[in-house]
Amino acid sequence: MTFDPIYLDFNASTPPDPSVVAAMQAWLGSRHANPHAAHMAGQRAAAEIDKAILSIRKLINASSGEILFTSGATESNNLALFGVASSDPCSTRVLCTKIEHKSVLEVTNKLALDGVTICPLGVDVNGYISLKNVTDILSENNLNNTVVSVMHANNEIGTVQPIHRIAELKDKFNFLLHVDAAQSLGRLPLDVDEMGIDLLSFSAHKMYGPAGIGGLFVSKAAKRYLKPLLYGGGQQNGMRPGTLPVFLVAGFGVACEKALDLMNADSRNAKQLAELFCDRLSSYGVSFRRISPTHDGLPGLVSICLHEIEGEDLLLRVAPFLSISTGSACSSREIRGSHVLREIGLGEREARSVVRIGFGRSSTVSDATRAAEVIADAIRVQRDEQ
Ligand code: PMP
Repeated sequence: MTFDPIYLDFNASTPPDPSVVAAMQAWLGSRHANPHAAHMAGQRAAAEIDKAILSIRKLINASSGEILFTSGATESNNLALFGVASSDPCSTRVLCTKIEHKSVLEVTNKLALDGVTICPLGVDVNGYISLKNVTDILSENNLNNTVVSVMHANNEIGTVQPIHRIAELKDKFNFLLHVDAAQSLGRLPLDVDEMGIDLLSFSAHKMYGPAGIGGLFVSKAAKRYLKPLLYGGGQQNGMRPGTLPVFLVAGFGVACEKALDLMNADSRNAKQLAELFCDRLSSYGVSFRRISPTHDGLPGLVSICLHEIEGEDLLLRVAPFLSISTGSACSSREIRGSHVLREIGLGEREARSVVRIGFGRSSTVSDATRAAEVIADAIRVQRDEQ
């Protein structure tokens, strides 16, 4: 008999909810049609797309005409930043934290080559930006076009940034606020209106929807600044052309409905399991430092620095039993240390000893206790071998 390892990598991707799979299956057979076609089958598909848009709008409190579908948060981040900055690079500046996902940082590297002024924002040892720092930079020579790009929840260390406080600075300064919500959509309350967000990036596969689809919320105010990256058949008002994949959109819509229903219960479960896991690990005598916040972090994300073993070594030892990540998270196979861990002041050696465990909707008490036991055993075995 073979057993699947316990999946504890819910921040890398989440298995689609069964209701999502059912919704997608309905569109994978004879019902399939091009949702941009005028015939009845096409109209039925278009109605499904409209239904999904409504579910996304409800989840983030967006108005009509403010949602664009993309292939995921990577594309959304590219569209948001290139889309605003590329029309007049030399009079544009982008402020962004140094702990953004690479799909933001690599875009800003390219924009810098194109003449855009990039202002990196450092974070403190706990991973939080300083509002004073943002204010100071915004007070400097005001270019016409300013975008402040700050992720909602960090994918490696689970810190949640004070988005509404940044938005309050709009009373004094003129800028567009872009938020990468790949980790937080469906896990934390998000209200684009109340939080003063102009552009919001997200991916369905991080919230129990399918991989390959995501979206960009574009507020009415931001719309006039955004230029498309792709040109084609004019779908989605020409802002992101291409035939929409109805089955993925339908699955995404259902994932949003589920998230609205289950967000509180999911969050409670994930938090409790994270605490239980850490308590158990301590009770087994494992020496570690918690990097992710104990309170107010992304529910279920546990990032720990182990004192006796490197992350890669631990992953190899526990691989038959647990699917977890090293600190460099989504690009675990990358050998170079994580830029996020470096930014919060970890040395190379410490950063290499960080692992990320992510609890999610289907995680159980037995997953949490077993994970602690397996990790403690692996460390004990390594200790004995030395
Ligand atoms: N931003 C953040 C914060 C993420 O965690 C990820 C996924 N690791 C992305 C963007 C990119 O999302 P995707 O791979 O779905 O395009």
